[in-house]
Amino acid sequence: MNNNNNQHSQDSTASNKINGARKILFIDRDGVLVKEPPITYQLDSFDQLVFYPNVFKYLGKIAAEFNFELVMVTNQDGLGTASFPENTFLPIQNLLVNSLKNEGIHFSDIYIDKTLPEQNAPTRKPGVAMLSKYFNNPDYDLVNSFVIGDRITDMQLAKNLGAKGIWLNTDESKGAAEVNTTIEALRKEVIVLESLDWKDIYEFLKSPDRKVQHDRITNETKIKVNINLDGKGNSSISTGLPFFDHMLDQLARHGNIDLAIECKGDLHIDEHHTIEDTGLALGEAMVKALGDKRGIERYGYLLPMDDCLAQVAIDFGGRNWIVWEAEFKREKIGDMPTEMFFHFFKSFSDAAKCNLNIKASGDNEHHKIESIFKAFAKAIKMAVKKDINNDSLPSTKGVL
Ligand SMILES: [Mg+2]
Repeated sequence: MNNNNNQHSQDSTASNKINGARKILFIDRDGVLVKEPPITYQLDSFDQLVFYPNVFKYLGKIAAEFNFELVMVTNQDGLGTASFPENTFLPIQNLLVNSLKNEGIHFSDIYIDKTLPEQNAPTRKPGVAMLSKYFNNPDYDLVNSFVIGDRITDMQLAKNLGAKGIWLNTDESKGAAEVNTTIEALRKEVIVLESLDWKDIYEFLKSPDRKVQHDRITNETKIKVNINLDGKGNSSISTGLPFFDHMLDQLARHGNIDLAIECKGDLHIDEHHTIEDTGLALGEAMVKALGDKRGIERYGYLLPMDDCLAQVAIDFGGRNWIVWEAEFKREKIGDMPTEMFFHFFKSFSDAAKCNLNIKASGDNEHHKIESIFKAFAKAIKMAVKKDINNDSLPSTKGVL
């Protein structure tokens, strides 16, 4: 399963109640609902009909649990011509639609384009001519809708609709001649999930990536934070303080979160505002990314690093507090004043509204702070871990 870098705003969780505009799953047929017959790619006899594994179970759960409208969009090349008569297509299509309907999977609309690729018809995917009713229509929320398909043309369709793409990619070259965007660009802009398993699709729709972009601008610092709590540990940190960058890099890597921080601070004065405000901006971004905190944990971590032992316990319980037991004798490590270590974590706990309990012992000062950042990262990783089968808040108060 591969979650790509696509913005998924916090209000777009699939489990939202209907609030006005409807979200749609535009679902391809062949290669998605049923296996695509090899060689001819044409499903025109019952002995070729094989439903896609898990489609009944997980599309059934999607239909039952979420408020998506289901719309089938399929290209059936040359349907109605001598090589693909309607009477070889329709009985299979009817069986397919009725079988899914019996499991609670009902398509509100079914769009079938019958043209051949060389006709370049605007109705043929990735063209959107059949789907014009969804455009500029306040009844539909295309931005938070998805196209689920097995060809790159389906992903181009998602782009053309202004929706997102879920790609059951078995062969990148299929349909590649019919798109005007590179696969890399579609991956960056449109594709939010690549998987061949309907279970992954269900889980993704149930729990989309917790991603935010957060800007914090004052007269002293201009900070841009991008955070993905469900990332892979990728980081891009630039605060103007290489040692601080190195520490924040630990947070991404050991926390398994994607983190990009760009801070332009008043370093000509000193390091203070840059470090303090980065802590605040990071904490604010964390609050946004955590959203309603359903299904998260509250945790801590203990780790040794050579001569040092660091322990960090964290609770995103909605109140700020910090306990800090770590002494530093040197004035600076790298370009970072050691008195600012406490200040960074204090700022973070204030802004993230979390309790932080940090203790570290040891002799080597570099090891000591690095082990604190690593334990902080591990504690965050555990604390923000989301159990998708648990929709409850980790609190008896009903709010965090
Ligand atoms: Mg297909």
